[in-house]
Amino acid sequence: MRSSIEQHVWPPILTGRPATLMALQHHLSKSQWWSAERMRANQLRQLDRLIDFAMRTIPFYAERLRAAGLEPGMPLTWDAWARIPVLSRHDVQSAGDHLNAATIPRSHGRSGEKASGGSTGIPVRIHKSEFTNLMFEAIQLREELWHREDTTGTMVMITPPFSAMSTAMRQAASTRKGMSMPHWGGIQSLIWTTGPLHMIDLILPADAHVDFILRHAPRYIYTLPSTLRLILWHCRDRGISFPGLRAVWTRSETVDDALRELCHATLGVRIVSNYSAAETGYIALQCPTSAALHVQSETCLVEILDADANPAAPGACGRVVVTPLHNFATPLLRYALGDEAECAEACPCGRGLPLLARIAGRTIDTLVHPDGRRQRFFFDQTAVANIRAIKEFQVVQKSLHRIEVLLAVGPSFSSADSAKIHAVMRAAFGSNFEIELSSCDRIPRTEAGKLRPVRSELPQLAH
Ligand SMILES: [Zn+2]
Repeated sequence: MRSSIEQHVWPPILTGRPATLMALQHHLSKSQWWSAERMRANQLRQLDRLIDFAMRTIPFYAERLRAAGLEPGMPLTWDAWARIPVLSRHDVQSAGDHLNAATIPRSHGRSGEKASGGSTGIPVRIHKSEFTNLMFEAIQLREELWHREDTTGTMVMITPPFSAMSTAMRQAASTRKGMSMPHWGGIQSLIWTTGPLHMIDLILPADAHVDFILRHAPRYIYTLPSTLRLILWHCRDRGISFPGLRAVWTRSETVDDALRELCHATLGVRIVSNYSAAETGYIALQCPTSAALHVQSETCLVEILDADANPAAPGACGRVVVTPLHNFATPLLRYALGDEAECAEACPCGRGLPLLARIAGRTIDTLVHPDGRRQRFFFDQTAVANIRAIKEFQVVQKSLHRIEVLLAVGPSFSSADSAKIHAVMRAAFGSNFEIELSSCDRIPRTEAGKLRPVRSELPQLAH
């Protein structure tokens, strides 16, 4: 651990923001083991403050909460909470500035606008306070403590350039040489002595990424799952490995079991993933002992709701409804961000934080049948990923009668492979659709650099 005092190395002393964050870690290290009842009782105390603030200062919520039978100053109960209507992305978009508080408590610091990645079309814009960012960093540090074995190791980052990067840095990152920094940066480098960071743009081809990784021999790779998949296929087909690599950390997109297996089989290391959104911050972190995701209950309330808005049973899939507990700048009360997740029973690791077995992706991606029936747009991705000649794929509903499978393939792609894909699509979507395969060099990414495995070009219902 670093010391915040100049010319002083031991015993380490932190001051300011790092000290606040590490003090908070002390509490989080205990609360992770709390019972569900104890956690919910404390969440209710925080929600009570948030609701009262929202009712008193934001007319949008005053009206909405009164209509649900809540009054300012009335102690909050879980029954009352369940009467609050779910807030959709569409609600947030149409309310615009009416969701923002005119002023927030002074100790929450300044607030600024934050927009979602826009992977589902129109981004959601909200305000976030400095206090919310502090809570975000607290969970970021928890992820480090749960998963990082060696903070002094070299990191290779393969992502789109950050908005904070200068033009020169962006240009350097977009070449095969990439750019280098002496430390990882971020909150990690204020607390620990971290190793060097080498960064290269995600837009470059897999062979450039692999060369870059081989040159820097990192302990950790940080990238998006769709980019990792290309790197793994490149390595698998050429027998390339990365000695010294300890783990691959990912963000943004969902990591499926096929990718975890491929990573382990090809590089002999595990994937560390999390579930977060720009509007809400961290929602869940991967369990230190399994691939399931623990909800970060100290910073958000997560509800998984079925079609009747009741809590979904363990093993069932439902809408993810999130309430960030600490953002008073734009309170999001029961916000359905457009994902579905499957809840799981208690985790064998013993932590009391609720468990999500998997994230099922954006609910907005629904398949519409010619007769108007809607179905979750889902197919056996593992079966497609196992076809070795395929580098990338995306399934697109083009019209009520036509589904296009967009493929980036190598020269060994055969008619048998094509037949396999047709069979997977028929098994998932029935025989009402004309399935068309088309090839491209690279599947277009969203603005945030994400590859969406399914996409519909039909008008989607607002959730
Ligand atoms: Zn666990």
